[in-house]
Amino acid sequence: MLKIPPHFKEFLSEPRSICLINHFNPDGDAVGSTFGLGSALKKMGHEVSIIMPNAFPDFLKFLRTDVPVFIYAEHMQEALMRMEASALIGTLDFNHPDRCGAELGKWLTAKDRPVFMIDHHQQPAAYADPMFSFPDVASTCELVFEWLEAMNALQHIDTDAAQALYTGMVTDTGSFRFPSVRPRTLEIAAELMRKGARPHQIHERIYDSNRESRLRLLGHCLKGMELRTDLRAAFMSLDAATLNASGYLKGDTEGFVNQGLSIEGIELCLFAMEREDGWKISLRSRGDLDVSALAREHFKGGGHINAAGGESEGPAEAIREKLWDILST
Ligand code: 5GP
Ligand code: MN
Repeated sequence: MLKIPPHFKEFLSEPRSICLINHFNPDGDAVGSTFGLGSALKKMGHEVSIIMPNAFPDFLKFLRTDVPVFIYAEHMQEALMRMEASALIGTLDFNHPDRCGAELGKWLTAKDRPVFMIDHHQQPAAYADPMFSFPDVASTCELVFEWLEAMNALQHIDTDAAQALYTGMVTDTGSFRFPSVRPRTLEIAAELMRKGARPHQIHERIYDSNRESRLRLLGHCLKGMELRTDLRAAFMSLDAATLNASGYLKGDTEGFVNQGLSIEGIELCLFAMEREDGWKISLRSRGDLDVSALAREHFKGGGHINAAGGESEGPAEAIREKLWDILST
């Protein structure tokens, strides 16, 4: 059960200026948790701003919040001003300052102001206090609900916040099917539905609003997929030339990595994608196979037992051979 330290509750008993920050390339859980918590904190009387390191994908644009959102990569000065003016910083859905980019990360650790964390990634760095870090919980959105419950503030979750929190729960649990789902997860989902979340609409917005370029990219990716059934592993990749030729938009490749894992007998899938700043790695696994350890050791990354990410030197063939080597030893 999530507990709020009395001094922290006391601090929040008066109106404060609060900035909520999520991670680079914000996903459903990152956007949902900041929107949901941001709106609720505002209703509790605080002045809230949300800072995102960079833009979030189009398929999440249906989410609403009455809290101002600043994209650091696009409006650095405004974002910095908000951060400087805040009495409290909340970091959501990440476990290390690096995850919000070098500059924001440096700012987070250098400044002498309270920072709290709500997160579910393994091995959290100790930059925040209090740290509401629960790696066994399926999503940060689920934790935000529990956090608000512990604050006796569930009445401040309005329809928009319920939609946002439900969305993060859906995306981080693979639509409520990952092993991290507990009875409580579904109870919270039900409660959010009572508060106005519309599951059918959310699923449609996330999963049934494909752009043509996304489906064609998926086709390309699946065609080039390589399997090593002896290693129970799949490898998929997209290089920059293919991405650019497809009219790629941010978010288009979301979930591709799960396709490889859906093959019977495959227990690990690595998806590598070439971005402007290098190759980004996504890893997924089944069961006890810990890809977060693999990402930490070999790809300068981290994450969860069954879902992790990182980076690598290219080209794709080198990453593929590296993966086969790692899994062979
Ligand atoms: P995705 O494959 O969806 O990008 O990421 C899967 C999980 O791994 C997410 O929970 C994310 O937080 C984590 N992750 C992704 N990329 C990185 C990275 O570069 N570094 C670390 N530490 N974690 C990552
Ligand atoms: Mn998450």
